[in-house]
Amino acid sequence: MCEELMCEEDELRRRLFRATAAMRHKPAQRARAAGPPGAHIGYQLAWAHTQRVYCCSACGAWLARPQDEFSTSEQALDVSLDDAEHTICIGACANLVESPRHDTSSSSAWVYRVHAVRCACCSAFLGVRVKEVQKIGGRRREGDESRSAPDRLNEAYHESRGVRLSPPSSLWLRSVAPPPPPLPPPPPPLPGDASLPPAGASLPDHSPAVPCVGRLARGRSGSGSRRAEPPPPTTTTIESGSRLSVEQTYLGTRYLRVLDAHAQRPLNPIVPLVCRGCGSTLSHTDQFLCTKRRWGFGNSVPERACYMNSLVPGSFEVRTEYEEHLAQGLMDMADVYCKCGKQVGYKFCRDKTLTGRNQNQVGRYGLVVSCFKPQLEQE
Ligand SMILES: [Zn+2]
Ligand SMILES: [Zn+2]
Repeated sequence: MCEELMCEEDELRRRLFRATAAMRHKPAQRARAAGPPGAHIGYQLAWAHTQRVYCCSACGAWLARPQDEFSTSEQALDVSLDDAEHTICIGACANLVESPRHDTSSSSAWVYRVHAVRCACCSAFLGVRVKEVQKIGGRRREGDESRSAPDRLNEAYHESRGVRLSPPSSLWLRSVAPPPPPLPPPPPPLPGDASLPPAGASLPDHSPAVPCVGRLARGRSGSGSRRAEPPPPTTTTIESGSRLSVEQTYLGTRYLRVLDAHAQRPLNPIVPLVCRGCGSTLSHTDQFLCTKRRWGFGNSVPERACYMNSLVPGSFEVRTEYEEHLAQGLMDMADVYCKCGKQVGYKFCRDKTLTGRNQNQVGRYGLVVSCFKPQLEQE
């Protein structure tokens, strides 16, 4: 039941985020959906531009507008998180704090400088800010062909503290890399030499690029064009050691809600999860992050539990903090009780692993499945 509900929410979320991004790229449609007819054009545009807003799903803090989102072709890389395979990439944002500690995450030829970002209002981990990328050379490229595809994929998508980063996108590299050195002028055509292009023909595109490897490799826009594609680049003009500024923030979509900015309500319907003891709302179905956890109260046998992005503030109490060795490492945990007194779940209070591997779970919760039920409309 919980798994089906989570899958439905993932699908609804995927459609909503896609539709929201599509609105950003269709100004004509956006203008038709604009505010009061007859109003000043600047007002109509401002209205259209603030119809939707991305907010922290746990506390409701406004984070970014869809027009601050980078399109796929503008993104420097692809990022996926332990709790959220899909991320949105934004430039300007509000109510986010960067962790002072930065991680360096490397793939075969690139090192990223990455800071975790948290909600400024509720401190929930929301994603990462990628500050810069540095070319470190292709020292592991030798023997590429001899390694298996999964090995190459694992190396391409380097994982660090639950964050996976692809190599830089070739489109993005072309947009930010220094221009390639000028090509030597072609030799003057010899009379009768038919192998050379006619005068004025365009030369092949030698712009610097590195192929984007992995499951999220991007398609080229305008692939239907008849213009000859340049051959796949085998070298890049980006020098080893070069640093490129990125400054893009990647937020997990499962940590977010899309709000109607005027009504200040989520655009997708939300379904309450209620306490089986008293019927009060503990959380909502769009807060599921994993439905395959297990948890036992005290010395009881562990039973099925769900890992939740958030619980409804004021609906529960956190008691009795203790240290626990979990499958994912050492953490400080606490018991969670409904306001009616029924024990319903647990809280991840602090990550005590040396690597900070569980940074994404801190401040989040688990609910034991036997303690709650969805409040569907027919009830
Ligand atoms: Zn928040
Ligand atoms: Zn209750």
